[in-house]
Formats: sequence, C-alpha cells, structure tokens
Amino acid sequence: MHDLSDGLARFRRDVFPAKAGLFAHLATTHRPTTLFIGCSDARVVPELITQSEPGELFVVRTAGNLVPAYSSDPDGVAASIEYAVAVLHVSDIVVCGHSACGAMTALAEGHDLSAAPVVSGWLRHADAARAGAAAVPKASGPGRVAALVRANVSAQLQNLATHPSVARALAEGTLTLHGWVFDIATGAVNPVDAAAIAA
Ligand SMILES: [Zn+2]
Repeated sequence: MHDLSDGLARFRRDVFPAKAGLFAHLATTHRPTTLFIGCSDARVVPELITQSEPGELFVVRTAGNLVPAYSSDPDGVAASIEYAVAVLHVSDIVVCGHSACGAMTALAEGHDLSAAPVVSGWLRHADAARAGAAAVPKASGPGRVAALVRANVSAQLQNLATHPSVARALAEGTLTLHGWVFDIATGAVNPVDAAAIAA
C-alpha cells in the first residue's frame, strides 16, 4: 500500500512551511468561493486540475459525480450543497465529469452490478442522463461512454437546481452553475452547456 505516513512527513517538512501563513489564516477562516462536485475517481483531483489553494474549493465527490435531486430526507450530499450555498455563500458550482468514468461506463455498457447493489441503486440518479444520451445518434463504444458522461453532467446540473438553496441563489443572481468534463489523457477540461439551467 502507498505509504501515507511518508506523504504526511513530506508535507510537514517540504510543503507546509511555504504555506504556513496561508494555513494560519485558514485556521480561523473558511470562505471558499466555489463548490466543486466531482467524481470520487482517484484520477480526478479538483485542487490539482484547477490549481486551487487550500481554502478555495468546497468539494463534494461522489461515484459518478451524481447529485441526487432534492428530497426532504436527510442526505449528506444535499447537506453539503446547502451548507456551501446558504451558509458559505459560494458564487459558483462546478459539476465535473471525466473521461473513462467507471460509473458511466457501467451504465453505458450495461455491466452486471448484482454484486454491488448499493452502487446499482445509487446510479439510478443517472437515469435522466441515460435517457438523454440514448437520444445521441451514432454513439457507440467509447463514444457512447463519452456521450453519457456529458449527458450526466447536464442531468446533475438539473438535479442541483432542484435544491432550494440553489434555486434561491440562482433566482437572486448570486450563483452560477458550470458543467465540465475532464479528459484524463490530455488534461483538457471541456465545458458542458449549462445555459438551460441558469435561465
Ligand atoms: Zn468517475
């Protein structure tokens, strides 16, 4: 296993001293400007791809960067969204999908998820994305996964807008939603049109 204790030691020795002033400030201040909702995939590191410093991104990572539509049941993702928007007053939310997403590949290729029933249930939050991607003509193989990744970002932006805190901030014009797809092989980030959401 990758030795995390080595990493902790290197952080304290080589990285922390240069940022000691920043961390001293952050010790009593938490004012991120952006809520970043990404996939749990180990290859998609929000702070790295956006070159953000500690304190700048409020991050939620879920399998498939899925955002369940609002419901009145307690939910960790919903609580994080509400906290970021209504308490921390972030000005921007990014929903970031990525190439070769395991969750989207499983859906696009119809993998048997009977051994992972919780995953299977969770991926139901991508049902609208599947329906949207199915309408994309000529998508096959990797193209089918890529189409679903993009449709999924759009669908999750729609789900995001069902959360009351988000809907309120959108109506007040204090919040902007963004859809991205990160390409692991090239490092490129391509936007997914969120115009329909902000309207
Ligand atoms: Zn993923």
